[in-house]
Amino acid sequence: MQTLWGENVPQQRRKKKQRPPSPKPSYSITGADDCAIIGHTLNVWDLAGCTTCLDCHVKIFCPRCISAHPTDANARPILCKRHEERTVIR
Ligand SMILES: [Zn+2]
Ligand SMILES: [Zn+2]
Repeated sequence: MQTLWGENVPQQRRKKKQRPPSPKPSYSITGADDCAIIGHTLNVWDLAGCTTCLDCHVKIFCPRCISAHPTDANARPILCKRHEERTVIR
């Protein structure tokens, strides 16, 4: 269905993806390095505000939900889905 006004309908649809575009074209998917380039692949967040990375299995917690990871001092602070919305422009 066409509009009568000749509006430019944007063809490109932005898919909702967790991964931001990589700054440089790197096709060498090498496990842990993959996380450093395109970001971790987050598992399901648990009720405490913690999750893990499916790729490198690092522990991750949301600094907005909890101040620190309860079991791993080296856990990576990454905003959970609820809190990361602040950075998403709608
Ligand atoms: Zn990872
Ligand atoms: Zn959170």
